[in-house]
Amino acid sequence: MAGEPQDDCLFCKIVKGEIPATVVRETATTVAFRDINPQAPTHVLVIPRVHYKDAATLAAADPEVTADVLREAGEVAALEKVDGTGYRIVFNTGPGAGQTVFHAHAHVLGGRDLQRLV
Ligand code: 5GP
Ligand code: ZN
Repeated sequence: MAGEPQDDCLFCKIVKGEIPATVVRETATTVAFRDINPQAPTHVLVIPRVHYKDAATLAAADPEVTADVLREAGEVAALEKVDGTGYRIVFNTGPGAGQTVFHAHAHVLGGRDLQRLV
C-alpha cells in the first residue's frame, strides 16, 4: 500500500530504529538526522515516516506531511543556528539528479558559504 514501510529501504529502517542514526529532531510524522557523509557543517536529512520514493510523489499523496517536512527543515536550521546566515533545502529527485536513497528526504545544508546554484 502507498506510504507503507519498505523492507529494503534504508530510511524506513532508520524510522523503525533498525539502523542507528544521529537524530536531531523527531515529530509524529518526521525524523531529522545527520547525513553520514556531510557536505557542510550542518547537513541534516529530514524524512517523512511514511515511505514515498521522492518529494513530489510524497506531495501528491500527502500534502500535510510534505508541509511537515518543510517546517521541520526550518526548525532544524534554527536549532543549528544557520537560519540567520542562510541555508539550503535540497530534494534530489531521480538518479540523474544524484538521488541515491528512494525514500523522500530534504537535505538541510548550512554553516558555510553555499554558492548560488540557480
Ligand atoms: P540522496 O543522494 O538520495 O539525495 O541523499 C541520500 C543521503 O543519504 C546522502 O547524502 C548520503 O550521504 C546519506 N546516507 C546514506 N546512507 C546513510 C546512512 O546509513 N545514514 C545516514 N545518516 N545517512 C546516509
Ligand atoms: Zn522508505
